[in-house]
Amino acid sequence: MDIHILAPKAGEDYPTDWNEFLTWFASEEACLSYLERLRWPAGFVCPACSCIDQPYRSSRGRMVCRDCGHQCTVTAGTIFEKTRTPLRVWLAAAWYLTSQKQGVNALGLQRVLGLGSYQTAWAMLHRFRAAMVRPGRELLHGKVEVDETYLAISDRQNPVTAKGRKNNTAKTLIVIAVEMLEPKRLRENPPAAHRR
Ligand SMILES: [Zn+2]
Repeated sequence: MDIHILAPKAGEDYPTDWNEFLTWFASEEACLSYLERLRWPAGFVCPACSCIDQPYRSSRGRMVCRDCGHQCTVTAGTIFEKTRTPLRVWLAAAWYLTSQKQGVNALGLQRVLGLGSYQTAWAMLHRFRAAMVRPGRELLHGKVEVDETYLAISDRQNPVTAKGRKNNTAKTLIVIAVEMLEPKRLRENPPAAHRR
């Protein structure tokens, strides 16, 4: 049996600019079928019985296994599971997040995508960041320097009252560690942040 590898190929199956991105991911269906190629690069595999067969497809991207009748979606068990935000917006956020040299914050994401709420933008970034941590990444070793600082985080959602803005500023502890390499190079771990 020929196995068709459907997984997107690096340098080929990724849009090269924003215009191309808009063409590729013009609809929810286009986003779903792209995610399907990522998730099942050799074709659909039933998560319940592991049978490899084209599933029945029903509305809203639901897939039903021909063998055991298990129902699933391509987003089940991923960071997109049960989201009310359209996948087009998710993928646009991924594009934005990975193309900004200076990094992205929730307010910037909310503005650029026209998201209804700051919380939505914040939650999206949080899920992306959690997913971008490489499992089994090597730890820093040898000569490691660690320092800490505080970052003041104010609650932007706080209404401005007659007495002025309610002070609801939290301090976030930021810890940064670098491994000292010879000759002078640094290797950084992503900073760990703890809300105080
Ligand atoms: Zn099955």
